Amino acid sequence: AKEVRFLLGDQLNIRHSWFGKSDEQVLYLLMEVRQETDYTTHHIQKVCGFFAAMREFAETLKSRGHRVHYLKLVDKNNQGDISANIKRIVDESGAKSFKYQEPDEFRLDAQLSELCNELSSSGIDCECSTTEHFYTERSFLKDFFKGKKTYLMENFYRHLRKEHDILLEAGKPRGGKWNYDKSNRKSLPKNHTPPAPLNFENDVASILEELEASDVKTIGSIRDSQLNWPISRTQSLQLLDYFVENALPWFGDYQDALTTESWAVYHSRLSFSMNVKLISPKEVVNRVLEQFEQHSDLIDISQVEGFVRQILGWREYMRGIYWAEMPEYASLNALDQDRKLPSWFWTGETKMKCLSHSITQSLEYAYAHHIQRLMVTGNFALLAGVHPDEVDDWYLGIYMDAIEWVEITNTRGMSQFADGGIVGTKPYVSSANYIDKMSDYCDQCVYDKKDKTGENACPFNSLYWHFYARNESTLSNNPRIGMMYRTWNKMSPEKRDELLKKGDSLLENIEEL
Ligand code: FAD
Ligand code: SF4
Repeated sequence: AKEVRFLLGDQLNIRHSWFGKSDEQVLYLLMEVRQETDYTTHHIQKVCGFFAAMREFAETLKSRGHRVHYLKLVDKNNQGDISANIKRIVDESGAKSFKYQEPDEFRLDAQLSELCNELSSSGIDCECSTTEHFYTERSFLKDFFKGKKTYLMENFYRHLRKEHDILLEAGKPRGGKWNYDKSNRKSLPKNHTPPAPLNFENDVASILEELEASDVKTIGSIRDSQLNWPISRTQSLQLLDYFVENALPWFGDYQDALTTESWAVYHSRLSFSMNVKLISPKEVVNRVLEQFEQHSDLIDISQVEGFVRQILGWREYMRGIYWAEMPEYASLNALDQDRKLPSWFWTGETKMKCLSHSITQSLEYAYAHHIQRLMVTGNFALLAGVHPDEVDDWYLGIYMDAIEWVEITNTRGMSQFADGGIVGTKPYVSSANYIDKMSDYCDQCVYDKKDKTGENACPFNSLYWHFYARNESTLSNNPRIGMMYRTWNKMSPEKRDELLKKGDSLLENIEEL
């Protein structure tokens, strides 16, 4: 081959212009490597999902007449490291040119550009192309907000709505409002069961055997060697259809709802398919808009806007933040938190129902929806003062869709406020009150959601004030939080002392909660 073209495991975009026509002289290279299975401890389903999707993709390429070199984890000559493998294969194939697509992760971007320096110095032409996946370029957000003090998601999102003519009527937002966030906050009515999630039952027995033979350390479980996540473009499109037909009409309403009745509620579960680029955000948004046009009598604008905002808004925004702020972002710890994550984050064995349910579900399905991540596990970690490195590592491992660019901005930024307010304007914390309003967890919990300091009091209630009190010097100047401190300061010194003591004792016994 004259040219080697490398694809990462999250670059499975068959509609990329690379694949327009086949060429005998081009060798496509995909590889399963220890470098990637080991940079954090991943959920077993996540590793299976990546490998299964990569293998399917390699087969699709071959069936379309492309030449493919696929390295399995267990292959003898696999050196476990991306650069080492590429160097060997470029050398063995006699290629004079090497191409790759822009990695979404900073560490891989650095690694591949360093590799290219090396290859270039030995006479190989190197080139990096875009992945042809996102709405925006890497640097778009940074340029868009040039000279501004803060990156406001809403401005970014409105700009993209206009640029791509999405949900507009004569240049104005459809339905009169840009944002229906306020109507997207309902809890699930009693005796209301969301549709069962669509599962794919992909057989991954051979991948599981290979992972075991290679001693790859993982977390979580998988039932009957069957992976319920989509691993091909066809399955991803099926999931998209299933979503628009069965969940979209209620998506916005119940976007924030928490329940023990369903693990996916009305969420799409499309994050894995999109993050590995089996389908693109544009296809997802366009399919949703098409459904809306055809059934606007059945689907309210608030449901559709609520969904579009997640993808056109949040997903692109987080990517922009990542490229604007890395690599410094990865070590921010604005609130100076330093605790370890309690060990029950890996077992779900805690008496707190909200956490035991959300963690057990994550271990079982490699999935929790946004509010479980933000207002249950993330909320607790922040209230408890856990070090953001610990929190990042957990989120980076446990979820099917966890890839650093979108994991770290959500975790360190949105959820842990460790970036001091780059992503969010204030910390997302709450007492039992919010969790109870949005869920059926508290009614099934041994702790008393109303009690703050008693023996059986819900830990969130005192930790909430403990959090604000210990961060007063950093947070009290924030105009969005000022009211909290006024409430705190109006409490009697005895009351405050009682709350702080209760919080201290909970934190001392965090493993026992
Ligand atoms: P839906 O609710 O159906 O939303 C549709 C799509 O919108 C998602 O597939 C996703 O692509 C996009 N989206 C929604 N919210 C966000 C967001 N805040 N940021 C970026 N995209 C968003 N998302 C990841 O893809 N990978 C992660 O590693 C990840 N880690 C997170 C960690 C924390 C602490 C929090 C609070 C959120 C995290 N998110 C992450 C964002 C969000 O929770 C997931 O994208 C979503 O739960 C995926 O499920 P879904 O596909 O059913 O989403
Ligand atoms: Fe969680 Fe407290 Fe509610 Fe129990 S009472 S489920 S610990 S918020």
